[in-house]
Amino acid sequence: MLLREILEANREFVQRWEQEREARQAGKLPAKKLAIFSCMDTRLVEMLEPALGLKRGEAKVIKNAGTILTEDVVRSLAVAIYLLGVEEVVVIAHLDCGMAKPDADRMRQAMLARGVKPEDLEGVDLAAWLQGFGEDYHGHVREVVAGLRNHPLLPKDIPYHGLLFCPDTGHLELVVDGYKE
Ligand SMILES: [Zn+2]
Repeated sequence: MLLREILEANREFVQRWEQEREARQAGKLPAKKLAIFSCMDTRLVEMLEPALGLKRGEAKVIKNAGTILTEDVVRSLAVAIYLLGVEEVVVIAHLDCGMAKPDADRMRQAMLARGVKPEDLEGVDLAAWLQGFGEDYHGHVREVVAGLRNHPLLPKDIPYHGLLFCPDTGHLELVVDGYKE
């Protein structure tokens, strides 16, 4: 049913968009030469970009569960930097993140109940795989920023900043100022 709802909403959206299309034109290259790396949290939808004063066409946005630094995040940032002109990277973790302490045991039970074969989970350290970062949000932000700065495939000549976002108030706390540190 949800898919029907989405397709119906899209029909209306396309009609509205047609009227604004000219005014809201944007290019593929990020106009502010900025990339943001953040979390997939639902509360950030329609909130994070306006909270940063960003509009369509101005930044590349990469998200995953928990703002966890993975090789695919590096891949996306490398494309953004080397091919799409990004000159500044902002890591934005957020308070009350579900990935602070993901429940690996619950996940294992759910996976088994949904048909994942026990043998495919053998030897898999789910807690490590989920990469929960605990309650130290500031430490988490610092660690991700350091991981980007020290990554051999990413350049050292651009600033990597680290911030912490509050999904209730919209406030951004500066944790790592990439211009200074
Ligand atoms: Zn989160």
